[in-house]
Amino acid sequence: MAKMQKLLQYKEPGKSYDVVIIGGGLHGLATAYYLARYHKVGRIAVLERRYIGFGGSGRNTEMVRANKRAHETLPFYKESLEMWDGLSAELEWNLMVQKKGLIALAHSDFELASMRMMSDSQRRAGIKIDMLSPSELKKMIPSLDTSDKPALPIFGAQFHPEGGTVHHDAAVWGYAMACARYGVDICVGVDVTGINIEGERVTGVETNVGTIAAGKVHAAVGGYSSEIGRMIGMKFPVTTIPMQVMTTDIMQPFLDYYVASPRLHFYTQQTLKGDLILGGPLDHFQSWNSYTTYEESADRAFKIMEYFPDLAHVRIVRTWSGLCDCTGDSAPVMGGCGIDGLSLDIAWGYYGFKSVPASGKYSAEYIATDQMPEKIKAFGLDRFYTRQLVREIIL
Ligand SMILES: Cc1cc2nc3c(=O)[nH]c(=O)nc-3n(C[C@H](O)[C@H](O)[C@H](O)COP(=O)(O)OP(=O)(O)OC[C@H]3O[C@@H](n4cnc5c(N)ncnc54)[C@H](O)[C@@H]3O)c2cc1C
Repeated sequence: MAKMQKLLQYKEPGKSYDVVIIGGGLHGLATAYYLARYHKVGRIAVLERRYIGFGGSGRNTEMVRANKRAHETLPFYKESLEMWDGLSAELEWNLMVQKKGLIALAHSDFELASMRMMSDSQRRAGIKIDMLSPSELKKMIPSLDTSDKPALPIFGAQFHPEGGTVHHDAAVWGYAMACARYGVDICVGVDVTGINIEGERVTGVETNVGTIAAGKVHAAVGGYSSEIGRMIGMKFPVTTIPMQVMTTDIMQPFLDYYVASPRLHFYTQQTLKGDLILGGPLDHFQSWNSYTTYEESADRAFKIMEYFPDLAHVRIVRTWSGLCDCTGDSAPVMGGCGIDGLSLDIAWGYYGFKSVPASGKYSAEYIATDQMPEKIKAFGLDRFYTRQLVREIIL
């Protein structure tokens, strides 16, 4: 039998680094990769307390898109979406990027009108968007019920042809292996329990395996950002809420597009393997547990059957959940937090997968230069104290 060879060698953490990144999710790994490859900052370590991809990075529903709402966020997500295209070649790892197209259903004239308005700002930002009628939709997805049978019939849809999916585990491995090639120490089983600060400057981290000195510390900890806040005596404006998703039996290919209903809070895609991934809204309360419930699974199943009645016999084979760290304006927190050398890349809610290439690139630039890059200026923590929230949410 062929001997299994480990492709990625984890490292024991050293005593000191120029940059320590807390969190071995995609944001931490991508930041380490861009830092190591494009900036000369010395020795870099990624410290992960569980395993790489343990958080949202290995649990998300793989949707990538740029059809956001606010003028502050559109150019950022557009760049990120474009970056996925060349990433398999750059990382030398097949990320299974599928620009299959994203369809957002509208269930009333009002929703259609607001989608048209949003489409205008998206087009102005250079993002390709079309509007579809129910009959056009039916041609594209013959199994979709566009009749007046569903309780909320389909009035039309927005089509974002460049949206699609990227395999999330492949992305984790691709970035991790590229990090290792560029000399980053990826250390798993290392739990950061404290952040050391002298005067107004960060000097390193406390961990379960001892003190590690660092010139700069960057926190990319997904749903655990409140813990980082506690370590430095700050309360970040972030609420952590679980989100549940599930997958079905494998079927022959029948759904070419990612289909979502913003109104009903459900979305689905058929993976390359043939199963359907079904997602829904955030849970209704704050928690740090990753559980799933019958009620949420049933909710997703009933909604999908309303519009794809042929799926009534299909079984749900697995459910899982992950943590979403949300801000009040549905935008992330990036950059400094008032302590020299300590930076944040947190609060990515349920939209932090699509943003990985651009957030990694710009977090790396911030760490290397101490200057907030133009594209992420609007995402600074100070916006919560200067009343300059991002207008990502439609009120
Ligand atoms: C069910 C679900 C579906 C989603 N679907 C989508 C989607 O379709 N599209 C999209 O764009 N986004 C989606 N998201 C959001 C996306 O997954 C996240 O925003 C993104 O993965 C966050 O990546 P991250 O690297 O910041 O955090 P994570 O992937 O959560 O990684 C953080 C890591 O930090 C580690 N860590 C935390 N604290 C410490 C510590 N003190 N010491 C050491 N290590 C620590 C954790 O163990 C974890 O591995 C979804 C999220 C969920 C939960």
